[in-house]
Amino acid sequence: MARTAPAHESIAHNPLDEPLDIVRHHKTVYNGIVSMYKGSERLTKDLAMGEKILIVEDEPTLSETLAYNLQKQGYEVSISPDGWDAIKKAREQSPDLIILDIMLPGIDGLEVCKIIRRESNVPILMLTARADEIDKIVGLEVGADDYMTKPFSLREFLARVRALLRRARLMQQPSGSTQSSGSDEEKFVLGDLVVDPARHSAFIKGQEIYLKPKEFDLLLYFVKHKGIALSRDKILQQVWGWDYAGGTRTVDVHVRGLREKIEDDPRHPVRLVTVRGVGYRFEG
Ligand code: CA
Repeated sequence: MARTAPAHESIAHNPLDEPLDIVRHHKTVYNGIVSMYKGSERLTKDLAMGEKILIVEDEPTLSETLAYNLQKQGYEVSISPDGWDAIKKAREQSPDLIILDIMLPGIDGLEVCKIIRRESNVPILMLTARADEIDKIVGLEVGADDYMTKPFSLREFLARVRALLRRARLMQQPSGSTQSSGSDEEKFVLGDLVVDPARHSAFIKGQEIYLKPKEFDLLLYFVKHKGIALSRDKILQQVWGWDYAGGTRTVDVHVRGLREKIEDDPRHPVRLVTVRGVGYRFEG
């Protein structure tokens, strides 16, 4: 008697490496993979301490697959199917991480990211199907922390989620070198530029300047390494982290943004100068 094998039995390779985009288009295979995960204990080892993740994606099969697997890791997950609802949920729930697809009904993911970024430092991982959107995503205007191009594997997705949350936790901890409380951390005074790490703010001629979170991190890094030529790679590692997937172009974009705010003449910078063939040097 012939027996039809269930879909999941025909998958010989590790389903974690299956591109989710393909999974999405094969409902039968998708169901098989989910039932395999239900029996898997391997994924639950890395406890997530109940961190909250908001998934913003209008395709239910994809958002449910991501949600299911994040929940298996111990994360608290909610799903939002459109941009306005996402902004509302981000305000109400204060998630620890937002997974944000660009293609959404109503208001798109880039606009959602800009709005949330004005209100919060929450890490944002953007999902895109188009490589030509990457410049915009990593650019200052949008302010996403990382991105993934569809299709991607579940393994890579979970690794990015862990990396972003780990980095956010490290940023929240007071600096290891300071014994006293964070509010005593010294201010940096460089002529008419004052950088105040405790307040996470900077001033020019006594006026507070508005800096995006990553711009502030970058400025603080430069200030702490005044007079030293720093390569783009080094800056990227130190400010964005080893596991950041974007290229050194991200550094150039943020330096340009910083110059607009701290230089009298951004076209002829004197504070944050280019070191040809190397990267940048902060002069003070
Ligand atoms: Ca979508």
